[in-house]
Amino acid sequence: MTSASSGRHASSGHFSSAEGSASSGHFSSAEGSASSVSNRPMSNPASFRSMWADLNDVGRSPATGGYRRFAFTPEDEQLREWFGQQAAARGLDLTVDRAGNLWAWWGDPDTAGPGVVTGSHLDSVPEGGAFDGPLGVVSAFAALDLLQVQGFTPSRPIGVVCFGDEEGARFGVACSGSRVLTGALDPDRARGLTDQDGMSYADAMAWAGRTPHLLAADPQALARVGTFLEVHVEQGRSLVDLAAPVGVASEIWPHGRYRFTFTGRADHAGTTLMSDRADPMLTYAMTVLAANKQARMLDARATFGRLTVQPNGTNAVPSQVTAWLDARAENPAILDALLTDLRRQATERSERDGTTLDVRVESWSDLVRFDVTLRGKLVAVLGNAPVLPTAAGHDAGVLSAAGIPTAMLFVRNPTGISHSPEEFAELGDCAAGVRALADVLRELTT
Ligand SMILES: [Zn+2]
Repeated sequence: MTSASSGRHASSGHFSSAEGSASSGHFSSAEGSASSVSNRPMSNPASFRSMWADLNDVGRSPATGGYRRFAFTPEDEQLREWFGQQAAARGLDLTVDRAGNLWAWWGDPDTAGPGVVTGSHLDSVPEGGAFDGPLGVVSAFAALDLLQVQGFTPSRPIGVVCFGDEEGARFGVACSGSRVLTGALDPDRARGLTDQDGMSYADAMAWAGRTPHLLAADPQALARVGTFLEVHVEQGRSLVDLAAPVGVASEIWPHGRYRFTFTGRADHAGTTLMSDRADPMLTYAMTVLAANKQARMLDARATFGRLTVQPNGTNAVPSQVTAWLDARAENPAILDALLTDLRRQATERSERDGTTLDVRVESWSDLVRFDVTLRGKLVAVLGNAPVLPTAAGHDAGVLSAAGIPTAMLFVRNPTGISHSPEEFAELGDCAAGVRALADVLRELTT
């Protein structure tokens, strides 16, 4: 998705000076030009622009403008190091939990907690945009800076968190950092996950200098979190339609990832009669169409976005096609109905094709309803901000499912597109998000 038609928004999520000067006074272009992360005064209100500049080139493809920031890679290490530098520059206490997530604390959550935590993730999908994840982390630090400038002293500790491997782009399981933390993902299962090159999660951790055998749920770290707030770029156009820069999330749709393995028989593409084939690609192709139709009929979402083919030769009938389905719906019953019908259709088709089908659930995230009291507080503080559901999963959903009062703030995305270089937010809207977050943090820690 790298069309030139989206103009200035398509390139990199980089704020031009023209956009900067048109925005709110909080991020003036002069103050935003500093790029050093060290020695930055805590009271610098231009911190958002400066942090954004720090992150702009990390894992970015010069050819497409898309980002590739996978877990336990040099890019991931660089981003984690940057997070540590931001914590140090503000005099925050940096801790790493047993699931590998990073926490920067203003105040001591063990003596004065639990605290109010905000943040997001810094990893990306393949060819991802600049905002999904980093907006929440950068906004968190910027909100703390704003509170500092205002001379505010919180009555409870405030934490900034960077969750690891939120997108699951490398190992196929989303939110592995927050899920291991809360106990929703068994550490043994996490360690055994493999990437497309066959490298295990445990080996990748070791590569990055971590200690895979220590990977575990961390109830102590979780107990420090009294409330969690995540700022995120909107992954849709609701706020554009509502002409609102910031909105509040109501719920996250349930979401499953399923591995479909279609097995047939490898054969010669020239000499094998069409009637003599057991071609799993055919079964797969029908299944893709059926998933699309089912999702449309149920007002749900179904996407086959990844597949591998064996032996993957132009002149060979495939022996096996493995394809991953991402499916989401308003509630679990609808999602269940979609999967049940899809399996039935795919199985019927495989019988006709002479192939076999195996379906495994790789991950499941239940419907998340964010804390209603907290949501009400947010809406009030933000002056009647709109409330909207989302079909995208987030660490906020994992924490909410673990029983922590959680809320999300969305920042308007004029393209409505995400997981693509075209994902965007105007600097002025980002500033509105930071102010909203600072206002809410103040309200919750006064
Ligand atoms: Zn995200």
